Amino acid sequence: MAVHNVTLIRGDGTGPELVEATRRVLEAAVATSGSSFNWDVVEAGVDIMETAGTPLPDNVLASCRKNKVALKGPITTPIGTGFRSVNVALRKELDLYACIRPCKTYEGVRSRYDDIDIVIVRENTEDLYAGVEYDLGSEEADLIIKMAGGKIRSDSAISIKPFSVTGVRQIIKVAFEYAIENNRKKVTAVCKANIMKYTDGMFYKIAREVAAAYGATFAPGTPLPAQSDPTMADCAGKAAGIVYDEWLVDAMCMQLVQKPENYDILVMPNLYGDILSDLGAGLVGGLGVAPGANIGADCALFEATHGSAPKYKNQNKVNPTALILSGYLMLKYLKEDAAADRLEAAIKKVIAEGTHVTYDMKPDRNDPTAVGTAEMADAIIAAL
Ligand code: NAD
Repeated sequence: MAVHNVTLIRGDGTGPELVEATRRVLEAAVATSGSSFNWDVVEAGVDIMETAGTPLPDNVLASCRKNKVALKGPITTPIGTGFRSVNVALRKELDLYACIRPCKTYEGVRSRYDDIDIVIVRENTEDLYAGVEYDLGSEEADLIIKMAGGKIRSDSAISIKPFSVTGVRQIIKVAFEYAIENNRKKVTAVCKANIMKYTDGMFYKIAREVAAAYGATFAPGTPLPAQSDPTMADCAGKAAGIVYDEWLVDAMCMQLVQKPENYDILVMPNLYGDILSDLGAGLVGGLGVAPGANIGADCALFEATHGSAPKYKNQNKVNPTALILSGYLMLKYLKEDAAADRLEAAIKKVIAEGTHVTYDMKPDRNDPTAVGTAEMADAIIAAL
């Protein structure tokens, strides 16, 4: 029994309607455990930009830092305004270095596959998303072109891809800690080390050292490191029985399309994680059912994988399941396990019945019996 202080970022496009549906469901889910929420509702995105002059006003970050837990609706990335993505900025400012995206099949969801239960653990702050870019013709780009000694054409724009030991170590640790806590059997590190020997090569090197420090079982053919991570002596034996293996990202894409049931936890750098998250969403029935959690040392922000779907704004049409499942991850994070389990069971029931679901979950997308965002939330509340 607790009162949870949570920042509620309404977002833009379809965000506010999805957030409102999710808020009602979460309040109903915790009420039976005697808990409640004290929401701090804040605005970010293209709508508030018109009055505040920025899509990310200071009070949003201040509220997240104070409450340490936030639930967020999707936010449009303004094009041609000079503002970078609010979503990327939030992850960087709050140092939410890990993105956890479960991809799980629920009975009744239309998908080519069944029995998938994969979790993508994506590094969230480094890589080509670090925002270190140099425009065509800039002094910095020209300098790098000169330094590259003929490897880069003179008419190039440049993005820098930094990986740090700290960043790689902490994301691999997140993957193993998640595996241990959730009784998972395998952690697979995914990158492209055959081509990018220093960045992706280091990703594998550190991943192997961390896996060895946890006492994981190396899959046949997976190289053993020269040493286990010297900073992690306290983790010895924690991942006994969990298998560690590796795949190159291109081969992993084919594996996921052909044999997704063979994979468990996949841990990878930022860009590959972004792409494979949508692939994972596609395996389990689409963006309407793909949740996410952004986790840092001090703060966590929960949001769906999908964007603001602006063409459906104010139509009470889009699927609230992805954001409600993100709320389920938030309940787990808040140690509201009983409420979380009840909520997942209610979502499963509504999806399996297939009656009170949005258009994207009907066999025919024009099915007139499809319900709206709010009505699907009502059905989940009724099933709790
Ligand atoms: P999108 O995910 O918003 O929508 C793509 C399509 O997927 C939609 O047209 C719709 O058909 C479907 N879809 C998405 N969410 C759905 C839902 N809940 N229910 C049913 N169908 C759904 O992707 P986009 O059009 O590429 O992006 C729109 C904006 O959102 C862009 O500005 C993008 O930068 C931003 N974005 C934000 C986030 C975030 O807030 N974390 C994530 C991705 C994209």
